[in-house]
Amino acid sequence: MVPVTTPFELMSESLLPHTADRLVRRLSVRYLLVLVAVAALVGLDQVVVQPLLQHLGEFAPVINVAGRQRMLSQKLTKASLAFQAAPTQAERELRRVELRSTLDQWVAGHRALLEGDASIGIARIHTPEIDEQWHALQPHWQAMHDAAHRLTGLSATAADPDVAHLVTIVLEHERRYLPTMDGIVKLLEQAAAGEVTRLRLCALSIDSGVILLLLGLGSFVVRPATRAIASQVEQLEARVALRTEELDDANMALRREIAERERAEASQQHLAAQLAHASRITTMGHLTAGLAHELNQPLAAIANFAEASDVLLDQTDVDETQLRDHARQIQQAALRAGQIVRGMRNFVQPQRGSRNPLDLNALVREVIEFCRPEMSRRQVECESTLTSGPLVVAADRIQVQQVLVNLLQNAMDALEASPVHERRIEVRTTEADGFAQVDVVDNGPGVAAELVDAMFQPFHTTKANGLGIGLSISRSIVEQHLGRIWATSSVGAGAKFCFSLPCFHEYEHPRTETADSLCR
Ligand code: ADP
Repeated sequence: MVPVTTPFELMSESLLPHTADRLVRRLSVRYLLVLVAVAALVGLDQVVVQPLLQHLGEFAPVINVAGRQRMLSQKLTKASLAFQAAPTQAERELRRVELRSTLDQWVAGHRALLEGDASIGIARIHTPEIDEQWHALQPHWQAMHDAAHRLTGLSATAADPDVAHLVTIVLEHERRYLPTMDGIVKLLEQAAAGEVTRLRLCALSIDSGVILLLLGLGSFVVRPATRAIASQVEQLEARVALRTEELDDANMALRREIAERERAEASQQHLAAQLAHASRITTMGHLTAGLAHELNQPLAAIANFAEASDVLLDQTDVDETQLRDHARQIQQAALRAGQIVRGMRNFVQPQRGSRNPLDLNALVREVIEFCRPEMSRRQVECESTLTSGPLVVAADRIQVQQVLVNLLQNAMDALEASPVHERRIEVRTTEADGFAQVDVVDNGPGVAAELVDAMFQPFHTTKANGLGIGLSISRSIVEQHLGRIWATSSVGAGAKFCFSLPCFHEYEHPRTETADSLCR
């Protein structure tokens, strides 16, 4: 059987907490009782009112036929008189037909009223009063019937005493028949009126019952339910308001946290930039000896050419061409010295943090040139194998320089203990899968494979004057550029440090950086 779900059970599912279950159950019972009562009233209507209505519908044709009987009895009397008064035989025949037809109708109506006739929709209606009247009517009806019937069978003339006698019988009994028939019609009308009154009473009772049930439904079911719903809605609204407040607070806290995190990130970035700057200055300190030596050369050249020019000027026959040549040499040496100083200044200047498209091959060449004096000083040979075309990446030039200088510096340090003629560094660039890769390979002592990852940890150093931050800074720089840095090495087999950066595509960002070089 399908379980009945009342609206209140649905209401409890959506609105009420379990504490209101009892109320819901009570309301459900009341609601079901009202439903049952309404169903009972509908049943009562079917059992009582409908038969009454049907019965009432039977009165109209009966009253109609009863009224018509009166009219037919008068017509019968007239037809009897007309039959008696017919002057000719032909006329008399006509009147006989009329009398017979009227008599037939009158008899059929009488029988239908007494016994009922379903074929013409006449029911047999009788009450003690009506039956009594029928009883009183019967002899008169019978006398009229017999006389009229005999009249229709006579062939006598108007002077026939039988005709006169029979017509007299019809007339006499019609006088008594008519008021009795009137009485029957009245009694039928009274009975119909009684039925109508009964019907009205029944309908009124059922309507009152329905109204009472609806009032009860309103007072005992709908009103308590509405009150319960209203209170639940209030509670719900209060809870929503509370929850909204909590959410607002949580949002506020979240915003504060985000702002704090942003501040912390900004300060961390600032610190990282300062650390990277410090690391560059440290690296520069390591390169200074080589650079100072490199700077010495143009300065010595300048001094030499200046001195030679002075000697030339003391001569009486000044060789102007040679003098101009000395001046050009001095100029070139000064430019070279300027380049070295600018490179140093660019490298140690505080970071600007801007990323621009740059050719990684060009940057590798510049960095090798920049480190070349130090490499010469340490007697390290450096080779480069670069891709044929430019290798464009979007990067912060100084940061990438810092990574590469650091790798070269570490490679030179690693070669410190190697025999002079075996100290070799190779720098390679390649491109694969949308990434530009730089490898720095040395043939130094290398490190144990299991220590490779530790080299990238901050403050991990094996050098007496090392800080141990070069590789960890390099890794954070490369990862900030969405790239990767790693190393492979084993003891006695040298070390290979690699980093890769995403290639820059012209159609995505149509501008390429050309300025700001270490050696320019
Ligand atoms: P630092 O150079 O100040 O020690 P780094 O972070 O640059 O700091 O290097 C960390 C350590 O990694 C070095 O001390 C060294 O032991 C090891 N290392 C780096 N590069 C090489 C290399 N090419 N060969 C062998 N060991 C290396």
